[in-house]
Amino acid sequence: MVFPVEETRKEADSVERESREAPIIEVFASIQGEGLYVGQPQVFLRLAGCPLRCTWCDTPGSWAVREGASARIMTPEGPLRRDAWATPLEALTHIGQAEPREPRTVSITGGEPLMWPEFLLAFATMVGERPLHLETAGAHPETLARVADVFDHISLDLKLPADLGAPEELSGSENFTRESAPNSASDWREARRSCLKLIAQRDACAKIVVAKGRQVHDYAALLEDLAHLAPEVPLFLQPVTPMGGVEGPDHAFLGDLVEDARDLGLDVRVLPQVHRSMGIA
Ligand code: SF4
Repeated sequence: MVFPVEETRKEADSVERESREAPIIEVFASIQGEGLYVGQPQVFLRLAGCPLRCTWCDTPGSWAVREGASARIMTPEGPLRRDAWATPLEALTHIGQAEPREPRTVSITGGEPLMWPEFLLAFATMVGERPLHLETAGAHPETLARVADVFDHISLDLKLPADLGAPEELSGSENFTRESAPNSASDWREARRSCLKLIAQRDACAKIVVAKGRQVHDYAALLEDLAHLAPEVPLFLQPVTPMGGVEGPDHAFLGDLVEDARDLGLDVRVLPQVHRSMGIA
């Protein structure tokens, strides 16, 4: 016989479990191709869902949370398909299947992982000794403030307003953050500054994707905010990987941008996406 109190507890457990689920696109072991930990073998957990519309986005398939989608788990024996919606424990199981041997640093990417704060917080309690890294677009400072302490490293994008289309908020789930994406240049400035304050004095890096067709002075506000709010955080200028008609900047342009960053005392480095140049995921 099942007592009412038992039924209530099971129902509460089920609600709690569901509230921590997030949609996974893929889990795979590879080499980190960007930022401060470039070259490090890591395992990547890519979450679906992103309200932003970067003009040079290399993962537009991650924007939507699709009904009936499945997650691809790249194991050493070959790919597996699993239900996209996963609890933190299920995600950790996928990671164990994707790791070829010893546990690796886990990098959570997207999409925009900050869409799923409850998942992130619960997942962080389960990863054990593995370092946990976050790759974020820096559009949701309130959510970042909630989760920042559970990460060992944060890679923060600094977005140029000219590189952004109008955001499209997610729908169809109760689990994503209620914080809206910035929708104007001034909203973006505020979000950027708040995020920079949050990564200051942490193990972190900032990344600016640089595409062709911009002026060096377009980046002045991004560089100045970094220099003012988190001057010790390394800055990676990432020439966009050419695709879909988007082209990268020329060398002289990058050189000028580097000098502007150096004039502000920034620790600036230029780094294309290494995994793309190697032809790996
Ligand atoms: S934040 Fe990332 S996933 Fe979202 S549009 Fe920009 S590049 Fe694409």
